[in-house]
Amino acid sequence: MSTKPLPEATNFIQSIINQDILDEKVQTIQTRFPPEPNGYLHIGHAKSMFVNFGTAKLYRGKCNLFFDDTNPSKEKEEYVNSIKKDIQWLGYNWQKECYASDFFDKIYQYAIQLIQMNKAYVCNLSPEEIKNTRGTLTEKGQDSPYRTRTVDENLQLFEEMRLGKFKEGSCCLRAKIDMASPNLNLRDPVIYRISYDRHYRTGNKWCIYPMYDFAHPICDYLQNVTHSICTLEFEDHRPLYDWVGITLNFVAKPKQIEFARLGMTNTVMSKRYLKKLVEDGTVHNWDDPRMPTLSGMRNRGIPPEAILDFCQRIGISKSQAECEYSYFEACIREYLNYHAERTNVIVKPLKLTITNYEGEEEVDFDINPMQTDKGKRKRRFSKTIYIEQDDFSIEPPPKYYRLKPNGYVRLKDAYIVRCDGFIQDKMGNVTEVLCTYFKESKSGQDKSGIKTKGVIHWVSEADAMPIELVQYQLLLQDARYEGQDFQERINYNSEQIKKVFAEKYILSLSENTVMQCLRTGYYKIDNHQGKLRLTEVVSLKESFKSK
Ligand code: ATP
Ligand code: MG
Repeated sequence: MSTKPLPEATNFIQSIINQDILDEKVQTIQTRFPPEPNGYLHIGHAKSMFVNFGTAKLYRGKCNLFFDDTNPSKEKEEYVNSIKKDIQWLGYNWQKECYASDFFDKIYQYAIQLIQMNKAYVCNLSPEEIKNTRGTLTEKGQDSPYRTRTVDENLQLFEEMRLGKFKEGSCCLRAKIDMASPNLNLRDPVIYRISYDRHYRTGNKWCIYPMYDFAHPICDYLQNVTHSICTLEFEDHRPLYDWVGITLNFVAKPKQIEFARLGMTNTVMSKRYLKKLVEDGTVHNWDDPRMPTLSGMRNRGIPPEAILDFCQRIGISKSQAECEYSYFEACIREYLNYHAERTNVIVKPLKLTITNYEGEEEVDFDINPMQTDKGKRKRRFSKTIYIEQDDFSIEPPPKYYRLKPNGYVRLKDAYIVRCDGFIQDKMGNVTEVLCTYFKESKSGQDKSGIKTKGVIHWVSEADAMPIELVQYQLLLQDARYEGQDFQERINYNSEQIKKVFAEKYILSLSENTVMQCLRTGYYKIDNHQGKLRLTEVVSLKESFKSK
């Protein structure tokens, strides 16, 4: 009997593992996170990490980082490095760093073993012919004419494949399973193919590479993986995964468990598409703040804690569902609302002069009203301040509680003012608002008796610092893309740069600080080519409604 108490299962994967422990099939839980180094990690991978690293942690087990690098034409060292950086940024630590390419010799030995067992053969059908003779869900496949080659002949041909005697695509190694199997993956799947592309780690040592379905169960086994967690599209491959373990007589057979991929509205989550966005210049790079990559999110200022919280909340299941992007944004907001310090920016400045105010004074400002222990800081209040153009209206709609001619409004943390007049340019644009203030109305000690419904934010002229502010819209316009080319959904206007006024105070905050700009949004202090600018992390409220 197992002596460690089992955690209470909160999802189906944990139920399976608990049962395996109770049945004494496993002791120490070993998982792995298996990215292919063919691109940067995205938010879907965060979910996979959450499941793999999270499960290992729950059971005090281990999780390896396993690079699934069996495809030399697509893989690069750059991707390996970015993947490691992103995992660490999310706060995960792997037990061992492994590569499928570290196991190429062993995988090759296993292939030879299969040939010796008469369970694999070299097939000279072209990829096209293999596809065409595979049959369908309702029709059996046809045996390859090469299926009956002798063990010796196969050993000889496989050796020649390895030595580079054949052209790419001219032959391959296939497992000899069952061309009549109801599962298409068992109809003599290809397990080795020829490729003369240079591998970023093994160089030109190999010109034959194992296919995922053959390499993965072997690599799992060689890492002592107990539970090989992957996404649902591999469910139909599980019989093949198991066939490899059974046929090669693995002592402890890893168990493959599948869960539903994370899908999100307004997002593409495939490295292939993300790569295209980078290559055709739609975005600046893989780490563009509009990208759903983890590096993009880091650049954007999205806290890793918010990503993990999101993964926790959406849960793990076997049913495929698409998550609203706005739900992810809500998780970011919730985290930042609690953690981010408050500051003021004025996006579209309008000058406001208080005609009866002279000199200046300091007013108290909450650094973070959600964490009162953070205290207050002083802000300068003066005769000339900037407010948002949108906070003043000559012909306001009903229930407009901000500033209007002859109307009253409170300037946050300062005084109530009344609008006595305004100045317009030739075009009719308001260029300045003239107000009087009420001395007894100061926030916190208001004895004025004046009732106001609106409170607006401001930055005093002496504290106003011009700075660039970048706002983002979703990169993909509509929520879903059934039948629609993702290219058609790209919002080419998804990055907007504005010149705004921010408080000089932000110069005292360190780069990459994320703050809440009151009534405006969450922004990160970004060093862009040696110049400070503010980049939007997330808006304050849901900025779009999905269909
Ligand atoms: P992509 O299509 O983005 O390249 P992939 O599945 O080919 O995705 P891998 O690098 O092979 O990417 O993925 C590593 C692990 O992350 C795999 O176990 C895969 O199942 C998982 N994964 C990838 N995308 C998602 C997703 N959207 N949700 C959950 N897990 C995912
Ligand atoms: Mg892949």
